[in-house]
Amino acid sequence: QRDLAEELSHRIRNVITSQIGMVADRGRDDPDVVKLWIGEGDLPTPPYIVEAAEAALRAGHTRYTYSLGLPRLRQALSDYHFRHWNVRLPVERFTVTVGGMNALMQSAQAVLDPGDEIIVPTPAWPNLIESMRLAGGTPVLVPYGIQSDGRLALNIDDVLAAITPKTKAILINSPSNPTGWVMPREDMEKFVDLSRQTNIWIIADEVYAQFKYDGSVAPSFLQITDENDKVIVTNTFSKNWAMTGWRIGWAVVPRGLDKFYAKLSEYNTTGVPTFVQHAAIAALDQGDEFIRQMVSRCAETRKIFVDGLSQIEGVTVLPPDGAFYLMVGFPGDETSLDVAIRMLAEAKVGVAPGTAFGSAGQGYLRLCFAISPKLAREAVKRLTGFFKK
Ligand code: PLP
Repeated sequence: QRDLAEELSHRIRNVITSQIGMVADRGRDDPDVVKLWIGEGDLPTPPYIVEAAEAALRAGHTRYTYSLGLPRLRQALSDYHFRHWNVRLPVERFTVTVGGMNALMQSAQAVLDPGDEIIVPTPAWPNLIESMRLAGGTPVLVPYGIQSDGRLALNIDDVLAAITPKTKAILINSPSNPTGWVMPREDMEKFVDLSRQTNIWIIADEVYAQFKYDGSVAPSFLQITDENDKVIVTNTFSKNWAMTGWRIGWAVVPRGLDKFYAKLSEYNTTGVPTFVQHAAIAALDQGDEFIRQMVSRCAETRKIFVDGLSQIEGVTVLPPDGAFYLMVGFPGDETSLDVAIRMLAEAKVGVAPGTAFGSAGQGYLRLCFAISPKLAREAVKRLTGFFKK
């Protein structure tokens, strides 16, 4: 068999394989494994969303539609932002995408030329880094700082030190996967000022904005910017409404960029499946209560993990302010990947190695707590047994 790898573009050859898959592939089909490696909740999509998709299919919504998304859906998105963040954004600023991932990829394609640098705080979800590379950019990784109370912070001085003449953008993911860090509003304001002064773009990935554990939504860049700021916000239906497999998300772009995003959508995907867009309208119109349930369930399992794991000697947990992930620090100098593989074999708990999120993740494992309280208790029991050994 001929090895054609050498014949491929540098673009694809330079992209790395995710370490999450390296663990998951070993235990995916084992029903006894408690699977905490993937970033999705275990609840099914609410029935009214499924029914809206069925009805749309039967009504014949099976054809091409607008590249930027159905006008009714873009209106519903604008209303959603008004209800939850009290910002009134014109429909023209919304573009519907194939998940949050495609919103990021289109934004990378919109902003980055080959060789342009984009600053990415780490640890970061690997897709944030590799998608920027695939789009031709050069990710420049800046680790979060640790404050005196143990919480993470994105220090503006660290970001300033990483800026070069080639810096085109900063990618900010708040609430963050994998760390659960939430950027405070005052810091967002500092970064918006930085963007205004340096003319650098901000791509803000706010897919976990609903998942915050003090009773409020996370602050959004959309609350402190206007339509002329160089800020693009990406989001998804995946997490709020348990729709990871539906592949639908959105971006909010500065005024006037919609015509460019229409081209990006046309030539990347030619839009999101039409019946899925109808389902997304149902999610926005009827799904606020489901979000509340999801978030309160995550608040409960977050507490089970934080309380349970912090009792284990040598193990550290950083209570996450947002998203639904926990970074668990372990003692010793075994690699995160080795510990994750051993944990899968010995304790039947599947987690992601911290190094899947950059070298700053060495010494940590990431687990997803968007599961039932019962399963969370079982996982804590198994993890306690594993670490005690
Ligand atoms: N951004 C972050 C930080 C994520 O963790 C994810 C999914 O895990 C996404 C974006 C994209 O989600 P999707 O493409 O399923 O909408």
